[in-house]
Amino acid sequence: MAVFQVDNGSHYCYDAGMTKQLGQYPVRTLVVLGLVTTLTACQDSQNTKSEGSTKPVVVATYSILGDVVTDLVGNAADVVVIIANGQDPHEFEPSVKDIEQINKADLVISNGLDLEEHLVDALAQAAAKGVAMFAASEHVTVRAAGPELTDGKDNKDPHLWLDPLTLAEMIPDLSAELGKVLGVDLASRATELTSKMSAINEQAMTIMSPVSNCVLVTGHDSLGYFAARYGCNIVGAVIPSLSSLAETSAGELADLKKLATSAKVRAIFTELGTPRAVVDQIAKEVGVKSVELQTHVLPIDGHYADLITSLAASIADALK
Ligand SMILES: [Zn+2]
Repeated sequence: MAVFQVDNGSHYCYDAGMTKQLGQYPVRTLVVLGLVTTLTACQDSQNTKSEGSTKPVVVATYSILGDVVTDLVGNAADVVVIIANGQDPHEFEPSVKDIEQINKADLVISNGLDLEEHLVDALAQAAAKGVAMFAASEHVTVRAAGPELTDGKDNKDPHLWLDPLTLAEMIPDLSAELGKVLGVDLASRATELTSKMSAINEQAMTIMSPVSNCVLVTGHDSLGYFAARYGCNIVGAVIPSLSSLAETSAGELADLKKLATSAKVRAIFTELGTPRAVVDQIAKEVGVKSVELQTHVLPIDGHYADLITSLAASIADALK
């Protein structure tokens, strides 16, 4: 379930069928109503703490990070994910229980750079109370997005997990911090995880190798790290912002259509947080297909490796 928010501040719960229903409205109506900004999460945290467990608790803010952290800690801690898989981390709003989990954690691992926009205050309050914190973005090489951003926000790109080698940069500091908090030596698990990240990168390289001209139009500005690693050019985004919460305008969509046409894109990609009806309309007008990518969630029953290889496969299939 998710919350559907319109520009008067009202919230409505919706199911997957609503995305389909939006197809009956013209793009302009959706833009005017502010519906391009809208899908907000409303599930509780995904508590993987075992019943009766006395292990230390590590909180990871979102599912993808939680999967990688679980790989690193093994059985040394219970990993609790606040933003359950399937939820858009940009849009998730925490419950009272989520905030309690954060405050009780032995270590909280977040992405940072305001990816978890509605958790920022809760994380700052927990840090002020002395809860140990680790923000992944403070331990990797952060990509600066281009000056084309129009929402006036900081242009540091939070989507660092979409390049396995960037995400892997946090492993030495994270394993040291976890080792200190949990009182265990994670050095060999850290080495294994680093090798795994290299292997994931090589798999993605192989999958992308048949694509001779990787030109992307995306849902929001989410694929900068992926594009830099795998040799793609980003023409633009339906929501021209690093957050799926931002707004777009009819003028920006018209410009995007022109850019996409002149760049001869072969598909318009969409993702969680971008209304499919808007994307389908743009794709129709440009004369190409629209293709949904999973960028902010893990595949069902899948892990981080599957996220990256599935993403590469979806892009390669659409563009070759
Ligand atoms: Zn995003």
